[in-house]
Parts: sequence; C-alpha cells; structure tokens
Amino acid sequence: MVEFPVIHDKCPLCGCEETLAQSIMDDLIKERRAGPGGKAGTIWQSPIYDPLRTTLAVPILQSILGICANPVCGVVFCLRADKQVGPTHEPSSSS
Ligand SMILES: [Zn+2]
Repeated sequence: MVEFPVIHDKCPLCGCEETLAQSIMDDLIKERRAGPGGKAGTIWQSPIYDPLRTTLAVPILQSILGICANPVCGVVFCLRADKQVGPTHEPSSSS
C-alpha cells in the first residue's frame, strides 16, 4: 500500500534540490513579485477511471511535479502526490 501524500523534497535520481519551477519562483521572490518562502511546481491532475464500469465518484490523483534543475539530469519527479475524490456523478436512470 502506498501512503498518501507522497512527498519528495529532492530529485530521487541525482539528489538535486532545485527544480526549474522553483528557480522561476526564486527569481520572482528576488524581484519582490512573490512572497518570501514561496514554493513552486507544476500541477498534474488525473481522474482514475475503470473503463469497464460506471463509478459514482471518480478518484483523482493530484500531483505537484518538479523538473530537476540539474542540467545533466532533468528528471520529472513528484514533489507531492495526493488522492482526492472528484465530483459525484448521478447514476444514469433507466426508468
Ligand atoms: Zn535530478
């Protein structure tokens, strides 16, 4: 079983702690266009469907992704992943 949330605070491949999004955020902080201590990543949301069944509530895997800033690495990895329950769909009535 995977324990959620899944959190990685550095690149699991090379150990680099900087991501491309964070370097952009750090520039914004330096230019005072963002508050100090701001964290950055890119979001990826994926509803989970069973192709064979209609489900009432669709779980969503929400991941904040980072791209490793190490120029010889560049791995895309998960900074934080969590599961959510999406909007509930009414079952189609067959009256
Ligand atoms: Zn890396």
